[in-house]
Amino acid sequence: MSDCLFCKIIAGEIPSTKVYEDELVLAFRDIAPQAPTHILVIPKEHIASVAEINEKNSAVVSHIFEVIAKIAKDEKLDGGYRVVSNCGDDAGQTVHHLHFHILGGKKLNVEMA
Ligand code: AMP
Ligand code: ZN
Repeated sequence: MSDCLFCKIIAGEIPSTKVYEDELVLAFRDIAPQAPTHILVIPKEHIASVAEINEKNSAVVSHIFEVIAKIAKDEKLDGGYRVVSNCGDDAGQTVHHLHFHILGGKKLNVEMA
């Protein structure tokens, strides 16, 4: 996806503060952090959102959650953290490449909506 911001970050065309990378996923710090620790974890394959996950591409999602658990340990989010994926306009998704926010480092607001 040549016009996708996160595909450009994966390709190294736009800089990011990398936290973790392997052959399937990339994790980097959010440019506008909403918490002391705010990291985005994305598949290297372009998947537009949670709505596009299917039986052919879902393996990367379980891998992403393994990576999230590792990052949370590395970042010492011992008090807990939140994992969020905004899907579609009603949820406020602004970048249409699947991503999971890791938010932590403070007591987070409990409101979900
Ligand atoms: P969402 O609103 O769920 O689609 O999340 C998109 C996230 O991407 C927002 O939290 C933005 O702050 C973040 N973001 C946008 N551009 C960049 C960038 N160049 N580097 C890192 N994070 C970004
Ligand atoms: Zn993309």
